[in-house]
Amino acid sequence: MEKLSKEIIEKGKYLMKEGKVKKDIDTEKRIHFTVQGDSEEHSVIYEKTEKEWKCDCKFNSLHQKRCSHIFASMLKERIRT
Ligand SMILES: [Zn+2]
Repeated sequence: MEKLSKEIIEKGKYLMKEGKVKKDIDTEKRIHFTVQGDSEEHSVIYEKTEKEWKCDCKFNSLHQKRCSHIFASMLKERIRT
């Protein structure tokens, strides 16, 4: 797993602890989450086969790195990949 910044880890823990992560759909191939961010909701998807995470926020699309929404979803489902 790529190394996450301290800021992302802290924010992800906070989102998880505050109950901001909701699991919507869990299928054979993927899991969909909704994460309530500071100003808007974000959709997070985990591709089970590829073990890949995607989020619709700017941070994830700009940096191609895991954002706090993804990390919060990982914590929620105890997924470490
Ligand atoms: Zn995100």
